[in-house]
Amino acid sequence: MSDVILRIALPSPLRRLFDYQAPPRMAKQPLAPGMRVRVPFGRREMIGVLVEVTDRTEVPADKLKPASALLDEVSPLPPAFFRLCLWTAQYYQHSLGDTFNWALPNLLRQGEAAQARQERFWHAAPGASLDDPRIARAPRQREALQTLAQHPHGVAHGLLSKLKLNKDSLDLLLAKALVEVEVRRQGPAPRHEHWLAQPELALNPEQQAAFDAVRSGFGAFHAFLLAGVTGSGKTEVYLQLIRETLEAGKQALVLIPEINLGPQTLARFEQRFNARIALLHSAVNDRERLDAWLAARDGEADIIIGTRSALFTPMKNPGLIIIDEEHDGSYKQQEGLRYHARDLAVVRAHQEQVPILLGSATPSLESLHNAHTGRYGLLRMQQRAGGAKQPRLLRLDVRSLPLDSGISGPLQQAIRQTLEAGQQVLVFLNRRGFAPTLLCHDCGWLSGCPRCDARMTVHQRSAMLRCHHCGHEERLPHQCPQCDHVDLRPIGAGTERAEERLKVLFPDFPVLRVDRDSTARKDAMQALFTTIGRGQPSILVGTQMLAKGHHFPRVTLVAVLNADGGLFSGDFRASEHMAQLILQVAGRAGRAEEPGKVIIQTHLAEHPLLVQLTEQGYFAFAEQAMSERRAAGLPPFSHLALLRAEAHKPGQAEGFLDQACSAAEAWLAQYPQPGLELLGPVPAPMERRAGRFRAQLLVQAASRAALHRLLSAWLAQIEQLPSGRQVRWSLDVDPVDLY
Ligand code: ADP
Ligand code: ZN
Ligand code: ZN
Repeated sequence: MSDVILRIALPSPLRRLFDYQAPPRMAKQPLAPGMRVRVPFGRREMIGVLVEVTDRTEVPADKLKPASALLDEVSPLPPAFFRLCLWTAQYYQHSLGDTFNWALPNLLRQGEAAQARQERFWHAAPGASLDDPRIARAPRQREALQTLAQHPHGVAHGLLSKLKLNKDSLDLLLAKALVEVEVRRQGPAPRHEHWLAQPELALNPEQQAAFDAVRSGFGAFHAFLLAGVTGSGKTEVYLQLIRETLEAGKQALVLIPEINLGPQTLARFEQRFNARIALLHSAVNDRERLDAWLAARDGEADIIIGTRSALFTPMKNPGLIIIDEEHDGSYKQQEGLRYHARDLAVVRAHQEQVPILLGSATPSLESLHNAHTGRYGLLRMQQRAGGAKQPRLLRLDVRSLPLDSGISGPLQQAIRQTLEAGQQVLVFLNRRGFAPTLLCHDCGWLSGCPRCDARMTVHQRSAMLRCHHCGHEERLPHQCPQCDHVDLRPIGAGTERAEERLKVLFPDFPVLRVDRDSTARKDAMQALFTTIGRGQPSILVGTQMLAKGHHFPRVTLVAVLNADGGLFSGDFRASEHMAQLILQVAGRAGRAEEPGKVIIQTHLAEHPLLVQLTEQGYFAFAEQAMSERRAAGLPPFSHLALLRAEAHKPGQAEGFLDQACSAAEAWLAQYPQPGLELLGPVPAPMERRAGRFRAQLLVQAASRAALHRLLSAWLAQIEQLPSGRQVRWSLDVDPVDLY
């Protein structure tokens, strides 16, 4: 046995590396960090990433196991990728091996060769002639040979049917040595001479200013926040900056939110450029993802577009990073490695010395704060580019108005007027189902979920009660389970109820519903949009699925049925999310000639945040919200980490967190960190969920450095706590919600 020790990051939650011995044959090969190694682990084998080669280990000789196999001859992971993963693991206090696991394409984790797929290619044999007497009477073989002769680089096997090439004919030609088969990788598509496939729009002065600012930051790290109202032409600015990037021989990475994956967004990039575009999002299969990843790594893709995890895609010649809709919640991963792709993208841009552009109509308070403190350059675009007007926002005070399935009289009137003027209406309600709860009018029974501290939602059409938190469902009862009376009433309104009522109120117009229930079928959404696209007067009712990425030129009225949840929620980010959502929905209105109007029904018509938002716009709202955050010492004016725990028995999660808290206090007594506070442990806002009891401990710190000093010392101790074995726990650095 050799004394070459391999230090390996394994996909395990344990925050440490694992030592293995390199068997003699492996030890003779050149070993480099990033290579994948197969090793025994417990009773299984695992694939890990080599981090370090050394000759020392603390593992006793009789416990040290040999690694089983080396999977790479050279490291498939470029140094920049490696460095970003190291940073990520450290910042989020996560195991390095599991960080690699989240950052790598599935197939690489499973041991697939880090090579583009090999394929069979069919060629005409050199010297093969159409006049060959052996095919004089075989018109199909002649035809096939002719087609192949037109493709001097060969035809990939997968494309045969597309070119109407018949496999039998090819086999016969092969037998006559008139064609040849070669196995090789799909060669990279060549770089194009002319990047533009369609002419660019002439930028307006606001766009030009934004473009110039970012353009002048090329070649080094600069972060910009492009705050442009919906329709101000942000995408056009992205496209022209990407063109500049391509002309400089570099690659551009564009992150988009999960929900923007509509064909519209991707089509705009594909139509504009003669470029090799690599796509990495949830609809791409594992093989395509690996090929896209490799193409990006090897500089064979010019533009990389993807959702959250595409952030980790390596680039050979990085030139520009763009985060579209930077405020969007889908950039934060809420399980396992709880990273924020926007924040990591800024880190990456800094590591690779490229400019980064964050774009949004409704920037996050974090990014606005970074702009205010000068860390990001602030670029504003306040006019709609295509000439359409900004919609007007109106508060409709419903305090003394009866609500008919959530819809007030004045709103009904406004809807009627719009429809009669031949236009479309969008009704937004962020609650699916028929009603959020069922009440017994006799005894007061409520449809509580047996596994959660939450109510089950009434789904009338499927006659079910469903918990939206754990998925538990039951038949809709006909009589009260508690007192047997039959006077059961759905309380409040969800999209299903609003849809039903709107159909009764406006029988002459189509009413279409868009939410997770109505669009469960894959093509349902597309069918809905096609109907809307025809432009006849109609009502579209739905949840936030409606809010993003789509253009409805004929919608001139947007109705927000209930904005109040965002104003009195216990979650400190709720009002920010509400404002972003309202403006995103509002952005759907009046995108063409007719100006749009947004009516917001509220019981809190005088609420300062809502007043600012509707009268002065998002920036004024953000100022107001920011000063509230400052006063309360909340982010972006402090830094948070949340330790969550859950267990089957009540008290267990708190018990564990109590011990964790004591450990932190003991460390802090020794190494005081001014401005750092431990808050809790307390039961989670929804204490019981899916049958587990949940609690949490919040760490709030004035400085990030202080927070991280505590976290790195603390986590090592938490991992040792025996009570940790009875609970499921996780640490969330920079949590987005405190639930
Ligand atoms: P955003 O991304 O900010 O929502 P878009 O880039 O989608 O805005 O632009 C909105 C509309 O304005 C699109 O139809 C786009 O083609 C058009 N547009 C953008 N820039 C210009 C321009 N400079 N001149 C004319 N039309 C423009
Ligand atoms: Zn009852
Ligand atoms: Zn439940």
